[in-house]
Amino acid sequence: MKARVVVLGAGFAGLELATTLSEELGNDVAVTLIDKSEAFVFGYSKLDVMFGRTTLDAVRLPYREFAKPGVRFLQETVTAIDPEARRVTTEGGVHEADYLVVALGADYDLDATPGLAEGGNEFYSVAGAEVLRDLLSGFSGGRAVIGVCGAPFKCPPAPSECALLLHDHLAARGVRDACELKIVIPFGSPVPPSPDTSRALVEAFAEREIEFIPSRRVSSVDPARKVAVLDDGSELPFDLFLGVPKHRAPDVVIESGMTVDGYIPVDSRTLATRYPGVFAVGDCATVGVPKAGVFSEGAARVVARALISRLRGEEEPDGYNGLGSCYIEFGGGRIGRVDVDFLSGPKPTGTFQEPSSALVAEKQQFGSSRRARWFNR
Ligand SMILES: Cc1cc2nc3c(=O)[nH]c(=O)nc-3n(C[C@H](O)[C@H](O)[C@H](O)COP(=O)(O)OP(=O)(O)OC[C@H]3O[C@@H](n4cnc5c(N)ncnc54)[C@H](O)[C@@H]3O)c2cc1C
Repeated sequence: MKARVVVLGAGFAGLELATTLSEELGNDVAVTLIDKSEAFVFGYSKLDVMFGRTTLDAVRLPYREFAKPGVRFLQETVTAIDPEARRVTTEGGVHEADYLVVALGADYDLDATPGLAEGGNEFYSVAGAEVLRDLLSGFSGGRAVIGVCGAPFKCPPAPSECALLLHDHLAARGVRDACELKIVIPFGSPVPPSPDTSRALVEAFAEREIEFIPSRRVSSVDPARKVAVLDDGSELPFDLFLGVPKHRAPDVVIESGMTVDGYIPVDSRTLATRYPGVFAVGDCATVGVPKAGVFSEGAARVVARALISRLRGEEEPDGYNGLGSCYIEFGGGRIGRVDVDFLSGPKPTGTFQEPSSALVAEKQQFGSSRRARWFNR
């Protein structure tokens, strides 16, 4: 009988894992890839949608276009996971696995920040980005606060990108002088592993008169008074709040008993959980790397290679190295890049490449290569 690999979640991690298994093993393995959504959307596309640089239709990649030998895609919602039995329940049925890979990403816990759902807005979901796009078109003056409600959060540079792109958006509409911009981040610097990247971002904020408030998070929002309350009790009045909600693994993962402090603990090198034959990759796991697509994808490749070796009876391959590159929008049509190394040394390090238009082309290539690889586009 063919080995049954069940992959939960078709984000960066699930798509890369299923693609690699298909490329190497084709129909010799039975891969079931399950996701509740109809389409994949790159995280960074949410910023593009919010600032009206593209439409949602243009950036949605429908899963019906994900067709690979040996892989069956099912659009179903996972309702229960039994890691001991490697059994998954969806509203469509029960799926038994020889190898189970949980790649369900991180969810948003709006309730963790009182008032956020009623009085603020978030730009980390597709729906939230669309709401903010509409609100932004009517925002022509006043105080805008970009606020992070808890760490860890996906793509640590994204709030900084949001601030710089918001500046451009308001300037292009001729209303920047009528607006005050502030950004609140729970770290001492925008991108802690890379002092050069952080310095460049802090300089970019200063040049654009964006007030940077480090080492603070938004602990609640008061909808009646339109005030964001920070974790030291100080208050920031706003006319527009652009929030990054607190994250945690989806409820179904927490209910499975696999999590500690909201995420699934794994061995950073192998991505193995404490349950035999069960792996967790990407944002739903505690790997020791940032929550970003590029890391989810890298970890997924390691699990794919391990499964391929096991199924072929070969030696275990090398473990995960925790390396990744992130592109950072600096506004003005320029993009910078930070290459980070999270696992090889005693502490994370990062190397910065100055913003340029050449890196704009490189980021486009990053997206188009994945579209081609996963969706044959
Ligand atoms: C504004 C913004 C900008 C970003 N920019 C970048 C960037 O420039 N570079 C970068 O590398 N990363 C970026 N990211 C982060 C990146 O999008 C995520 O880290 C990445 O998507 C994580 O991949 P994943 O596979 O772990 O999870 P996800 O991609 O989140 O995939 C998880 C999947 O699980 C599915 N799922 C969840 N629950 C269920 C369920 N119960 N049943 C069935 N399916 C379920 C979801 O539908 C989803 O498709 C950004 C994120 C945001 C919000």
